[in-house]
Order: sequence, then structure tokens, then C-alpha cells
Amino acid sequence: MQQVWDWIKDVLLGTGGALKWTALVVALFMLLEGAPLRGLLHRGYNLLVFALNMIGLAVVGLALDRVEAAMPEHGLIGRLLPGWTPGHPGSWQNVLWATLLYTVVYDFFHYWAHRAQHEFAPLWVLHRVHHNDNNMDASTSVRHSLGAGVVGTVLAHFPTYLILGGGMLPYFGAIILFWVWFFFTHAQLRWSMGWLTAVLVGPQMHRIHHGRSVAYHNRNYAQFFPFYDWLFGTLRMPEQDEWPETGVDGDDQPRWAWQQVFLPWLHPVTPAALPEPVAPAVEVADDSDPAAPTMAGR
Ligand SMILES: [Zn+2]
Ligand SMILES: [Zn+2]
Repeated sequence: MQQVWDWIKDVLLGTGGALKWTALVVALFMLLEGAPLRGLLHRGYNLLVFALNMIGLAVVGLALDRVEAAMPEHGLIGRLLPGWTPGHPGSWQNVLWATLLYTVVYDFFHYWAHRAQHEFAPLWVLHRVHHNDNNMDASTSVRHSLGAGVVGTVLAHFPTYLILGGGMLPYFGAIILFWVWFFFTHAQLRWSMGWLTAVLVGPQMHRIHHGRSVAYHNRNYAQFFPFYDWLFGTLRMPEQDEWPETGVDGDDQPRWAWQQVFLPWLHPVTPAALPEPVAPAVEVADDSDPAAPTMAGR
């Protein structure tokens, strides 16, 4: 009994610590976003979703920890390159390279895990909690259902660990990439990143992903590199000054945060409803080009 109590205490203390730091970053972003005070309630709701999700993940995490512990410490890459210990890289250049490598591998798996959550109804039910925020801001980055957290861990983090090793990501890289960067890409910052827009996912690119209108559905899945969306045919580059409304039509946010975390399939919208896909572009044959294939010729 004492053991169970100690475990509950650890979970609550761990969640409290994570919540404290997350609230601090959300508050800092709120200053940058120039949000009015009434935005506090909205951010508080998302932070509550985060805290409940953390508690849920800690319970599920008992099983996930075992899977992670069973993986090779230095990943499959460690079998090819004995002595591979990028978790302790030594120099700042190695920290940079190791962090970059981690993001490239992670983003590949994240792309497909994320895409699956938009294209398979049972996964979309879990993921839409992240999307049914009508006022996306930095706090939206921690707004997830418990199920989506598990799916992301299993489909994106585990394969990355398997290849590169769980202890591979340098500590500072982990904080900046998997914490601060996620807040940044969700922030209500109407900053143009210029030519970097095509290289690194920023607030505008990810806002397109959260766009409410059907023109934005199922686009821009990558978390770091738009290259993956270009490669797999889902890229939608933002127009200048394009900052769409966010949210999911017909999916009103439930009043209580715990419903978002633990009962996402009970939302008003029918569970089978997927985001309506963007209509494929109609290709117009150019009559002036004799080499252009025509339907009549097939
Ligand atoms: Zn999404
Ligand atoms: Zn998002």
C-alpha cells in the first residue's frame, strides 16, 4: 500500500513540476503574443488538459517505460557505429549535429504518425482535441487527449529511440526542440520567417495545418521540416499574410477539460467524421503543347 501511495505522490509531484514550467513558458509566450487578460481562462483550460494528460500518461507510462527499457541503449545506429554516445557528445558542435539528426529522424516518423491521426477515424477522434481549439496559441501545443499521447509515443518516439537510442538526444536539444519549439509553432505570432518558412516549420506554417476551412485540411503535417510535406505531397506554403481561423467545424469544445483528455470520442461530432480532404487540383491540358497527354488519347 505504501508503494502505491509513494507512486501516486511521485506522479503528482512530477506533474506539478512539469505544469509549473509549462505555465511559465505559456505566460512568457502570452506576453509575446500580446494576449488580453481574458486569454488567461483559455490558457488555463489548456494547461488543465495538459496536467490531466500527464497524470494519465504516467499510468500508461508504466507499460511504455518497459518497452523503452527493452530497446538498445544506443539504438540500432550504435550497433553500426560502436562507441556512438551522442547523449554525451562532449563538444557543442556534436550537440548540434546530434540534435539535428534526432529531429530529422523523429520528424519522419512524426509525419506519418500525424498523418495517420488525420486519415484514420479512430485516431482522428483522439487527435482532434488538439485541433478543436478555436483560438490557437502557444498553450495549444500541450492540449492533447490521453490516447493521442500514447499514439504519438508509440508511432513516433519509439521508432526514433529504436534507431538512435533513447539517451541520444542531448538535454538542451531536447528542451529547445521538443518543448520550446512546439510552443513557438503554435503561438499567435504573426511573424514572417521569410525564406526560412520553406526550411523550418514556424507559426504560420503550422497555423495552416490548424486552419478551419477545408482548403487547409490534411496539410503541413511535419513538426520541423516542410521538406517531408513536400516529399509526400501534403505541403501548402502559406501566402503572405495568410493566418487562417483555427478549429474544427461542428466540434465544440466540451466544457470540462477532463472530457477532452479521457472521453474524446463523446464529443458532439460523430466519431467517424474525418476532416474533409482538400479536393485534388484539376489539371488542365495545355493544347499548345503537342507532347501533352490528353484523355482522348488513352
Ligand atoms: Zn494535426
Ligand atoms: Zn498543432
